[in-house]
Amino acid sequence: MTADENNIDMAGEHAGQLGRAETDIVVIGISMAALLLFVGTGGTVMSQIVRSWMGTGEKANSLLETAVLLNIALILFGWRRYHDLSIEVHERKAAEAKARELAETDPLTGLCNRRRMPIEMAKMIEGSQANGMAVAVLMLDLDNFKKINDLNGHEFGDLVLTSIADRLKAAMPSGALIARLGGDEFTCALPYNPSRPDRIDQLVGKIIDQVARPIAKGDVSVDVTVSIGIISSTDGGEDAAVGTSAFAGNLLNRADIAMYHAKKQGRNRSAWFEPRMESELRLRAELEAGIRRGIADGEFVPYYQQQINLKTGDLVGFEMLARWKSPDMGLISPDIFIPIAEDIGLIAELSEDLIRQALEDARTWDPKLVLSVNISPIQLRDPWFAQKLLRILVESGFPPNRLDIEITESCLHENIGAVRTVITSLKNQGIRISLDDFGTGYSSLHQLRSLPFDQIKIDRSFVAELMEEGANPKLVEAIVSIGRGLDMPITAEGIETEEVGDVLRQMGELRGQGFLYGRPENADVTHRRLADQHMLASDRMAEEAGAGEVRPTTPAKRRRKS
Ligand code: C2E
Ligand code: CA
Ligand code: CA
Repeated sequence: MTADENNIDMAGEHAGQLGRAETDIVVIGISMAALLLFVGTGGTVMSQIVRSWMGTGEKANSLLETAVLLNIALILFGWRRYHDLSIEVHERKAAEAKARELAETDPLTGLCNRRRMPIEMAKMIEGSQANGMAVAVLMLDLDNFKKINDLNGHEFGDLVLTSIADRLKAAMPSGALIARLGGDEFTCALPYNPSRPDRIDQLVGKIIDQVARPIAKGDVSVDVTVSIGIISSTDGGEDAAVGTSAFAGNLLNRADIAMYHAKKQGRNRSAWFEPRMESELRLRAELEAGIRRGIADGEFVPYYQQQINLKTGDLVGFEMLARWKSPDMGLISPDIFIPIAEDIGLIAELSEDLIRQALEDARTWDPKLVLSVNISPIQLRDPWFAQKLLRILVESGFPPNRLDIEITESCLHENIGAVRTVITSLKNQGIRISLDDFGTGYSSLHQLRSLPFDQIKIDRSFVAELMEEGANPKLVEAIVSIGRGLDMPITAEGIETEEVGDVLRQMGELRGQGFLYGRPENADVTHRRLADQHMLASDRMAEEAGAGEVRPTTPAKRRRKS
């Protein structure tokens, strides 16, 4: 039923009730008159009639007799109507109470709902303030509920929610408010002494423990964890009057921000609201908007870092590393914007744009140089990824065997079947595949052997250890020997000093990359470097043609800000 229909229906019912009320007044009026008449005259007339019926008195006036009978009938009729009416009123009251309850409680758990909570909270805050107390507001969100629901079905999901509601009721002191705001979100509010926040911490610790007890039905048992944001009514903000439901709404929003923070810190924990959380959130929103704008305005550009054959010192290729030239914030690192672009679903668009630019740049380089690009796990989830990449290669006229895709070990945990399909079709096109950050993601030797990698890259955290005083190279040696056993070339990342370069060189044939050989540089600087070393495509063409002088090529001019 639409809201309008509902209104019309209610209006109709209302009119009906009015009409009925008017007839009821008439009926009751007539009955009262009948009763008064009966009381006034019935006494003498009635006894006369009864005596006449029993044959002990003279016959009563038949008109009088009829009037009295009518009088009795009217009284009975009135009483009956009164009786019906009181039942009706009772039922209507019960229905109204039920409707109010439905509008204010969560039908699954019987807890307060999102609508009623701020109203009740406002009352609690007002009352506590009068007693010199504050109110602590907890915002709870289950960490893994969606997964539990997807794996075990909604019925089991409902059981989880009702069990959590019961545990909350048991854990909270009497008089506390508990609500389910929707989904797997609960909130509680309770008065506390603002000089004893440790009491709230204790309570929250107890809730976290209680929630963590397994929930079982039949042979299914699940472990649930919860993240909790906490705020005190003393931190409610200035834009609403204390004790109003708008103020309570502010507290709920801020408790939500603290809860979000607890999730980011690793879930299954709690965090008190701090004002900086709000500014972080604002910064995040600005970054999101900036990234959207920046993609459209061509603010993302490729930088290139040299990759060297450690034995010969020859340049073998470049790794493309993305940079954001933000007009407001300057040059921004990919560690900041890549995770956000992943979160907001823009990573594929951003990456494809960068790869297009990089292929254009790399076409002007010596054809023996390989271009490596980093690919996010999110992109590998796209079953069309290989096709999309091939299309970009064809459009750019870039040979697939000069492109190397770096995927991190963490990709292998996702959906190994799908990843294998994508990797295999990339390989079939002649594209090279490297396993990036090797050693950080616990991939099994079996996985390594079963996937057709061309190269592994030792994570720079292991290489960095070689720089420490009295460092033990055993770990790096072990990784190198794994690579060797699998017959895969190895690149060591993050080489910063000559000493580390020397240690690695002693381990055999390796490639290397790091500040020692060069920092990531933009397209123009890279191009000039290659020109100086006679390593441009034009140099190679000139060599092959045996000609002396050839016009130098420059990187293609395009809309970008490098
Ligand atoms: P990564 O793939 O591990 O890239 C190597 C990182 O190490 C780069 O950081 C590089 O600048 C830095 N580095 C290189 N040599 C040294 C050194 O000698 N010492 C130290 N301390 N660091 C060194 P950067 O450029 O900030 O990139 C960070 C990460 O961002 C990359 O790590 C990569 O995972 C990701 N990334 C960069 N560009 C892209 C991209 O286009 N797409 C995706 N999905 N990720 C990207
Ligand atoms: Ca990389
Ligand atoms: Ca790496």
